[in-house]
Amino acid sequence: MEKKKHILVVGLGYRTGLASANFLVGKGFDVTVCDRKSHDELMPVIQKLDQSVKVIADNQDPSILDTGFNEIVLSPGVPQSIPLIQEAKGKGIPVISEIELAYRYCTSRIVGITGTDGKSTTTMLTAHCLKASGFDAHPCGNIGIPYVSIVDTLKKDSVAVIELSSFQLETIDTFKPDVAILTNLTPDHLDRYNSLEEYFAAKMNIAKNQDTNDYFIVNSDDEFIATHLPSLKATKFTFSLQKDADCYFKEGGIYCTLNGRQQLIAQASRLKILGLHNVQNAMAAILATLSLAKKIGRDVNLKTLEDALYTFEGLPHRVQMIGSFQGRAFINDSKATTVGAVIMALKSIPGDVILIIGGRAKGDDYSRLKNYLKGKVKALVLIGETKDEFAQLFNDIPHVKAHSMEDAVVKAIKVSGEGDTILLSPACASFDMYKNYEERGNDFIEIFKRLKQGQLRWM
Ligand code: ADP
Repeated sequence: MEKKKHILVVGLGYRTGLASANFLVGKGFDVTVCDRKSHDELMPVIQKLDQSVKVIADNQDPSILDTGFNEIVLSPGVPQSIPLIQEAKGKGIPVISEIELAYRYCTSRIVGITGTDGKSTTTMLTAHCLKASGFDAHPCGNIGIPYVSIVDTLKKDSVAVIELSSFQLETIDTFKPDVAILTNLTPDHLDRYNSLEEYFAAKMNIAKNQDTNDYFIVNSDDEFIATHLPSLKATKFTFSLQKDADCYFKEGGIYCTLNGRQQLIAQASRLKILGLHNVQNAMAAILATLSLAKKIGRDVNLKTLEDALYTFEGLPHRVQMIGSFQGRAFINDSKATTVGAVIMALKSIPGDVILIIGGRAKGDDYSRLKNYLKGKVKALVLIGETKDEFAQLFNDIPHVKAHSMEDAVVKAIKVSGEGDTILLSPACASFDMYKNYEERGNDFIEIFKRLKQGQLRWM
């Protein structure tokens, strides 16, 4: 009898690691997971694991490999640079991501979305447009639903709309989307990559297996992409806010060139999602819908597509209007963990802004913000680990330091006036103060609610 293949899952997160391990058991593999966290810390996840999975806690030592594994599935949170992975590669053991694993069992169509900012919004909006156009579309991936957890439920004519981080794309091998979207590229995760070029190369893995029947949709306003985009086998479609492109923005309208004719697709002012960056996301979603339909020979009703664009509500924690208090608008943009996202938020909001900013730095060049703060941001309220660094960096803008989110909100009200917007758009990761950006955004929303209900003293 043939011996069962033995797979090691490295990194047991609540989502990807857990889903990969249980999926592999279902496919008949012998599965071991390892994680640097202790058994106690992992307990809530271990309880959800299939009982046959062997767990190695508190250990990421290369000696784990002595047991003999046929393949490794690497969770996106674990860098490839750890000795265990380096040694596995040296021994010729294939290291793949959960995306590659799921792809091997995928029979459906695929739209893959990557880029620095706008991935989740574009993923959800693309799935929304596809569904409205009659496709059986399923958003998944980095948005929080592992691809591997839904792949077995997809049919041949379904569409997996997958949000892909650069980490997930580092370890793909044969993965090939019918349609790929690259939203933009600005410095991010430079704590994990040596250079912007290396980060871009990981993202470009999305296109490496595409062929001439596939589509690659890209933002042609992005300077770095314009100068670094390698030649592609896939057919390229571009979108632009400023110039002629396959999908472009002119006098408030979003247009596509279809069969040589200019066609108005939608009015930007009727989108529920704010800001020009969301016009870019909408253009990417339009092109994805049209190109997938083209690939499989289906028609898209443009009126239906237009209506779908107008009914998309957006996602929480992305330039999310939460209400107003004492004439100040409150906007939660906790998901803005990059300079690029903060710039987009500042551009989308009319009037003066009090910006709550800071957290755990991610290697971005924060000085890029300076030009955008001047004349727009009346005052900064500095939170988190970057407080002192930002106080120095932005010393020509009025600023106050806050020791908690509550303190930040109270101080923001004090330095603001009627008509101003109080914006949480931190430019940093949340892990110094919170479990994740959702917890940070929800805390901000809770504090706002207490203010409204008179439960928080601010005067
Ligand atoms: P991602 O999944 O890539 O992090 P999201 O859609 O979750 O992207 O948005 C993250 C942050 O980036 C939010 O603050 C949002 O307002 C901002 N953002 C969304 N789309 C874009 C874009 N096209 N360009 C720049 N920033 C964007």
